[in-house]
Amino acid sequence: MSDPAPTMEGMRAATETAEPALPSPDLLAERLLPWFDAHNRTELPWRRPGTTAWGVLVSEIMSQQTQVARVAPVWEAWMERWPTPADLAAAPTADVLREWGRMGYPRRALRLQECAAIIAEEHGGTVPSDPAELERLPGIGTYTAAAVAVFHYGGRHAVVDTNVRRVVARLGGRSDAGAATTRADLAAAESLLPEDPATAARVSLALMELGALVCTARKTECGACPVADACGFSGQELPAGPSRKRQRYKGTNRHVRGEIMALLRDADGPVERARIDAVWTDRRMVDEAVAQLIEDGLIGTDEAGRFELPSR
Ligand code: SF4
Repeated sequence: MSDPAPTMEGMRAATETAEPALPSPDLLAERLLPWFDAHNRTELPWRRPGTTAWGVLVSEIMSQQTQVARVAPVWEAWMERWPTPADLAAAPTADVLREWGRMGYPRRALRLQECAAIIAEEHGGTVPSDPAELERLPGIGTYTAAAVAVFHYGGRHAVVDTNVRRVVARLGGRSDAGAATTRADLAAAESLLPEDPATAARVSLALMELGALVCTARKTECGACPVADACGFSGQELPAGPSRKRQRYKGTNRHVRGEIMALLRDADGPVERARIDAVWTDRRMVDEAVAQLIEDGLIGTDEAGRFELPSR
């Protein structure tokens, strides 16, 4: 049986005394799912029917630190070129890094290739469906494991990314979630899931979508929000704070590493050190960036000391 919908008066009284209770799973699903049906970004290629578990896993790794609009074309080309884990495992690492392109944080590409090799060799080419088994693969954390287990295999698990944590925190009357996912975050998200796994999966996707489109880090559009009458933070102002500042990229060490990677990706062959030094005016930053890229296994040197992408 559904819990009765909380009234605004009741919610206001609750915020004055203690943190408001989260809405019941039934109430949340009732409010959220019709909105999701109308706003779901079905144009994302990995949400097309027939996407394999491998395709879902690749999309999740790529979307971890890159906007989905930038991920979509790379994902399409990637799946065309390496449709199975065995295909990616067998590819030259330099090609994998070239295909990764400018999505940033390229160590993810290396971890994804390692992950592909383990799936091909130890799991017969089939992406595991159990979150615990998925978490044992390189580069796969709690969120990504749950996302694959739920969005492809239809299991009933809480799928908690930054967007979901933020929305759940606000439903519970807080302006934002803490810096890292805690057991309490997972338990709170779990408590919002209906019993039926297929409905629970849609609620998880809908919460993510709500956090991406309506209840974002920078703004709350409570007037357009389908769960406003069940939300403990509805209508409140977001505090100004450093947590919502955009991370700087220009002029950082990451920027310098990105420029060096771009030079090597586009080069026809190994590159002399002088060309690397020319990508940035601050020599100390170039030295640091080169050392980090070597340590991360993203670049190497040939017998003549020239730089190149990994030769494997
Ligand atoms: Fe709550 Fe407003 Fe966020 Fe909706 S947009 S979840 S009402 S804070």
